[in-house]
Amino acid sequence: MLPDPEFILIVPAAGAGRRMAEDVPKPYLEIAGKTILEHTLRRFTGFVSLRQIIVATSRGFIQKAEQLRDRIPGRIEFNVVRGGKERQGSVMNALRVANQSVGLVAIHDAVRPFISQEEIRQCLDVADKSGAAVLGMPAGDTIKRINEKGHIVETPDRRSLWQAQTPQIFRLELIGEACEYARRYGYQGTDDSSLVEFLGKKVTLVGGSGSNFKITYPFDFQMAKMLLDQK
Ligand code: C5P
Repeated sequence: MLPDPEFILIVPAAGAGRRMAEDVPKPYLEIAGKTILEHTLRRFTGFVSLRQIIVATSRGFIQKAEQLRDRIPGRIEFNVVRGGKERQGSVMNALRVANQSVGLVAIHDAVRPFISQEEIRQCLDVADKSGAAVLGMPAGDTIKRINEKGHIVETPDRRSLWQAQTPQIFRLELIGEACEYARRYGYQGTDDSSLVEFLGKKVTLVGGSGSNFKITYPFDFQMAKMLLDQK
């Protein structure tokens, strides 16, 4: 088997977590004695081709994120940067300190601690070949577009709808260019792939699984607790 390509990991962890109704932002909630952020980082630190981790976090949590340094293998460069108001700003701040000699950058939500090594490896492989790869899965529910009154205005064909997850992995210069282009034209995306799409470049979807869910609502947290406490 060929060795995995070298990569940088960017972890946006600066969200306010309003949908969880907790005082502490989601990445810093603890399960089984570790923050969710640490559980997530551990999914990646076993990769010998991982060169650098950059965590973007809100001002009040910089110190807390810095404390993770001791738990990261010494061969991996570790940086903590201030997050932005939007997720996109957090990623841009992280890119400013990225090691320019590494070819690929994987961006992964702080609150997806169940990503598997196999999924990371597959995504790395596709990104290495094509330049941009995003993990996702076919939409399970029928998705509706609604207007401001809450009335349904459209039901897109579910067979062509996928839910994008992370990691989303790109060649470093491609995601840098996409962020800059989006900033210049005032485009705001809810994921990183959409910035690359806005630039007009192709992104390949890699089939993932439901176990890589994002801890968004209180129910997800209960589920994560059950799964991690069991280990
Ligand atoms: O809000 P959403 O679920 O899209 O957040 C996904 C990830 O992006 C979370 O890990 C969150 O902490 C992060 N984020 C960020 N900066 C923001 C908003 C969200 O780093 N301004």
